[in-house]
Amino acid sequence: MIIDLPTSAYYPERSENLLHLAASMCFELVHQTESWGYEHDEETLEAYWQRTQPTLSNALTLVQQAQEMGLKGRIASVSPYLLISKEPRDWPRGSDKQDLPFSTFRTVDAGDLPKIHDTVCLPRLTEEQKALFEEIRSHRNIIVHHGSSQPLTAGDVLRYILRTFTWLHLGNNWFAKRDDYLSDDPLATLYSNDHVPSKLMFEFEALFSELSPQDFQSIFGANKRQRWYLCPHCQSNSGDADVSDIETAQLVPNLPTSTNIHCIVCDQDHFVSRQDCSDINCKGNVIAKSSYGDDFCLTCNGRQDS
Ligand SMILES: [Zn+2]
Ligand SMILES: [Zn+2]
Repeated sequence: MIIDLPTSAYYPERSENLLHLAASMCFELVHQTESWGYEHDEETLEAYWQRTQPTLSNALTLVQQAQEMGLKGRIASVSPYLLISKEPRDWPRGSDKQDLPFSTFRTVDAGDLPKIHDTVCLPRLTEEQKALFEEIRSHRNIIVHHGSSQPLTAGDVLRYILRTFTWLHLGNNWFAKRDDYLSDDPLATLYSNDHVPSKLMFEFEALFSELSPQDFQSIFGANKRQRWYLCPHCQSNSGDADVSDIETAQLVPNLPTSTNIHCIVCDQDHFVSRQDCSDINCKGNVIAKSSYGDDFCLTCNGRQDS
């Protein structure tokens, strides 16, 4: 018998974990360019991104592995035996005489996963999903075997991460999952997870600047160009970190009379009243109650005169 078969949760969990690890690597690189209040000139930034290529390339490898794990998970949900490659004569010696763990059998080549998936799983992969799988595989192969003429950017890898997440972990909210991941990281063991809400907002800011409007729309279902507002929940949850200029919420529906905003980061809706901000220099007209019960403007963060 083959023993220690992977559980149905093993591959999806591993896949998601790899995506979060890759995302942390990219966010850290972006964060470093903005830390300490430095304004770096273009030449310095170019030299910096050049030196980040090995890290970004490693992050891309993790995304590729995450895709493979995701596909293996779907195939294994039909039967994990479909993942075992080779003819029976190539199986480990004595597999018919003793129990051997699944890990001692060679598994199918990554390049065959889409074909196996589409043979045994429904729905089949879309052309777009197959293209994404191939794009990352070939991008990675070019870097490994020939070196890339076109440097990788953190934005490239973040786009791959988010598109892969949307594809393989459909129905899950990126920021909710990211919250779980960061709340469970070693830092949370040493201290607490108080740092997580503000970290999520800084990550939102990085994604906002790195993703194109098209990618942002397809991943988060939000129009980057629509007006953004501060989220009362995220603002009051972020402790001492200065996130007062990070706007994460939009009016839904986007109408002049709308009294509801939705935040991409905490995935919450909030009631807002539509009245002009009491600061004559502010054009905002979306006002919410803070956790202390006073009114403040979601454009300038200013407390409203009562
Ligand atoms: Zn929020
Ligand atoms: Zn205002």
